[in-house]
Amino acid sequence: MNDSLDLNEFHWLLAIVQNIDVGVVVLDRNYCVQVWNTFMENRSGLQPKDAQNQNFLNLFPEIDPQWFSRKVESVATLGTPAFTIWEQRPYLVRFKNYQPITGQEEFMYQNTTLLPLRSTDGKIKHICLVIYDVTDVATNRHQLQAANAQLQQLSRTDRLTGLYNRGHWEESLKGAYARHQRYGNATSLVMLDIDNFKRINDTYGHLAGDKVIEEIARLIHEHARETDVAGRYGGEEFAVVLSDTDKTNGWVFAERLRKAVEGLEVLHNGQSIRFTISLGVADLSQPSINYADLIAWADHALFASKKAGRNRVSVYE
Ligand code: GH3
Ligand code: MG
Ligand code: MG
Repeated sequence: MNDSLDLNEFHWLLAIVQNIDVGVVVLDRNYCVQVWNTFMENRSGLQPKDAQNQNFLNLFPEIDPQWFSRKVESVATLGTPAFTIWEQRPYLVRFKNYQPITGQEEFMYQNTTLLPLRSTDGKIKHICLVIYDVTDVATNRHQLQAANAQLQQLSRTDRLTGLYNRGHWEESLKGAYARHQRYGNATSLVMLDIDNFKRINDTYGHLAGDKVIEEIARLIHEHARETDVAGRYGGEEFAVVLSDTDKTNGWVFAERLRKAVEGLEVLHNGQSIRFTISLGVADLSQPSINYADLIAWADHALFASKKAGRNRVSVYE
């Protein structure tokens, strides 16, 4: 502190330190508390008289002593400030978060500055900790991240069915194709289309048609494994990539699904709606140029099912 500062100014500075909305703590070289401002008192519940001369690490056992002393010693030896930010270390001392708007965070996120304090003899005998409450910043960041994750999820999925939309499904197929090229694992594709769907729309209405689409998607989801990738390929067309599955086992999956749909009854406005699907199966056991070949083959098999009278599974040979 400057010698020319008179007592008045000293009192002003003290009042400022007391009332400022950041935590101010001064530690001696044994980490014992010398200054403890109102912010620290209010957030910790410890009065200055109880904190005074107490070892800071004893007051806050959550602080890693090794880390903290390394930090403090470097500040004291180099005579330059150091910082910790919430992204790396959410807080220095664990305070409950009391901010009403950011109530969803359990604790106060903090940035901390460690300042070397030189005595009149030029030696650094004290370290000042300045603790900033950055819970608002952290909350905003977390909310933004959550919103982005949700947006990404939304942009990948089809609204009506919750299955992947065509764009994302096709990206997943490309990934499966690349894995097959590299590791040679069996990969098959099942494509399916609702039989005479126009008639369902015409007879029961578009909303009933939507419900049928939703129910089929639910069945696909039920029958698929965790590693299978199911997508809504078109209006009433679906596609499922089956990993580590050849077309023989792909057929088993398709046939099971066909039977399940055949046995399904959708109720709409008191009316019972029954329907069937046609399916096509292909795998990558024959040479291909790119992933689109697999789609073309499965589609070809699907067309064969339609031609042969619908409600059946065909395998591309
Ligand atoms: P097929 O057995 O040959 O497949 O006969 P289909 O009547 O199903 O013929 P197609 O596949 O060409 O018909 C598709 C119909 O599906 C046309 C379209 O109006 C309807 N559709 C497409 N998307 C939706 C949707 O999201 N909701 C409803 N309700 N109908 C849809
Ligand atoms: Mg169709
Ligand atoms: Mg159809």
